[in-house]
Amino acid sequence: MSQLAIKMYMHCTKCIRERPSDIAPRDWARLNVGWTEQGLQIWCVRHNINVAHIDLQGNKVTVDSSIAPHFCIPELGENDIGRWVEYRSKGGDKVEQGRIKSWNDERVFVVYQCGGDWDNFAKYTGVATDPADLRFIDTPKAAA
Ligand SMILES: [Zn+2]
Repeated sequence: MSQLAIKMYMHCTKCIRERPSDIAPRDWARLNVGWTEQGLQIWCVRHNINVAHIDLQGNKVTVDSSIAPHFCIPELGENDIGRWVEYRSKGGDKVEQGRIKSWNDERVFVVYQCGGDWDNFAKYTGVATDPADLRFIDTPKAAA
């Protein structure tokens, strides 16, 4: 399943020039993306101009349209407090399991260390974690 893997974003050059400094590029962009006779086109809705038209030159390509289950802070609610999550660092070299204690607009506070006292996890320190690095998991056997 596909995660966000973009290494370099495509922007409308006019939009970039006109972007207010307090608005992130991703919030300012107004792009349409779609298939054409030749391939794939990215179109600026605001300026009604071409951003990029990718010509596949007749090559067959594979398209991954799967949706990875992602972790979304605005969807969190009271019932998610105490749920088990797994943290995986960007490189995938570090994996930890813990329970959600709280969150703010940008970070989820996860208790990873409580000396095995998982029933009282809420008394322990939550580590601010990027939600992009988290996924929900079933209760680990060791803690059940
Ligand atoms: Zn534009």
